[in-house]
Amino acid sequence: MHFTNQIDPVFYDNFVEHARPPKSTSVVEYACPREIMHAYAIMKKMEAAMKQYFVDLHIHIGRTMDGSPVKITAARDLTLANILDECLYRKGINVIGVVDAGSPKVQSDLIRLVEAGSLAPLDKGGLSYLGKAVLILGAEVETREKSGGKAHFVCFFPTLEKMKNFTSVMAKYIKNINLSSQKAEITAEKLFNIVDGLGGIFVPAHAFTPHKSLFGNCAARLTEVFSQRAIAKIYAIELGLSSDTYLADRLADLGGITFLSNSDAHSLPKIGREYNVIDMQQANYEELLMALKREKGRKVTANYGLDPRLGKYHRTHCLVCEKIAGGAPPVLRCEYCGSDKIVKGVLDRLEEIATYREPVSPDHRPPYHYQVPLSFVPGVGRKTVDKLLQCFGTEMEILHSASEEDLEKVAGKKIASLLCLARSGKAELTAGGGGRYGKMLIREE
Ligand SMILES: [Zn+2]
Ligand SMILES: [Zn+2]
Ligand SMILES: [Zn+2]
Repeated sequence: MHFTNQIDPVFYDNFVEHARPPKSTSVVEYACPREIMHAYAIMKKMEAAMKQYFVDLHIHIGRTMDGSPVKITAARDLTLANILDECLYRKGINVIGVVDAGSPKVQSDLIRLVEAGSLAPLDKGGLSYLGKAVLILGAEVETREKSGGKAHFVCFFPTLEKMKNFTSVMAKYIKNINLSSQKAEITAEKLFNIVDGLGGIFVPAHAFTPHKSLFGNCAARLTEVFSQRAIAKIYAIELGLSSDTYLADRLADLGGITFLSNSDAHSLPKIGREYNVIDMQQANYEELLMALKREKGRKVTANYGLDPRLGKYHRTHCLVCEKIAGGAPPVLRCEYCGSDKIVKGVLDRLEEIATYREPVSPDHRPPYHYQVPLSFVPGVGRKTVDKLLQCFGTEMEILHSASEEDLEKVAGKKIASLLCLARSGKAELTAGGGGRYGKMLIREE
């Protein structure tokens, strides 16, 4: 039998789906036909050709490069140029998704950077930044169901041209198209149809948060909002800061869907507080889409994010006495004053709509690693961050690679031990709720 180095992608996908890597070659040779051995060899070769990218796909733009507002609640120095530099030089994020590229003013900035030569459109979608990182163009949009439920979705497009087409369609439904995350007078299904019609990627954003999200505010099941056609093309959802893989995997609906952990950054320091590690052969839009669909070895291999307790909406918060629930979820009424004027926590909502008592994670699901971003570690201010960055290069290095000994040399014993405690996942935390972040506690000795 003759083997070529090419392999049918469908066969490959099936193989990856069903085969387990062999423990020893001799057992495999005994158990597997030659075709499978050959496919396994090619799979290994393809995996070796994959590169790992650090990816954050939800970063807002505060102002345009000449100072006009895009997202009013975001920091003034959160401009496109500053985001690209922050990702490249401080955070170590290689694939950068901005979610305000639907604004015509941001599009002017993009054109300026292309003309200046710092951004260059890639053949397979996305734009290269100085040949060192890749920018992916996204737009966050708010929809409204007939029931009144509001939700945010991030819509990605391969090129500026496609994004401009999207903008001109959406201008009919949005009052001020120049501003971020604006309300569109359409349902989620209709938005899906527009995005899909233009060849874009449609991702439910922070899918469980109480005010504006698919599962937090609109539905308990996908079929309540979407047609089967749409459901088949929702390849990924964003977990949001107050949730994680293990909470989301309590919904049967999400078994086939890839999870994304993105920062939803409204300021430069918050970029990368959640991010994804994605295996791709190259960084571009087409490869990213393949990774979300888990095709030909492209896939999300790890999610990094906050312990959900640190998120702003993890537990139910009472609007009357302002207390955050501590009892067994779901807390649907204030435990302290009995009021039903509450902001339901993500944990409480998930408990309410869960299919499973315990998480049921599919085989393809990567691990979710908790990280406490530098800005959450008590006593770590901008000055300390700058010193650490000077020594270790990027926040990713500081959070995950630098040794305690090396950290101690730069930041002192106390901060080094806190950073390592945070890294170990054993730090004591109090839960957030109602818009207030959870906190990392320090035990006084
Ligand atoms: Zn949002
Ligand atoms: Zn957002
Ligand atoms: Zn209360």
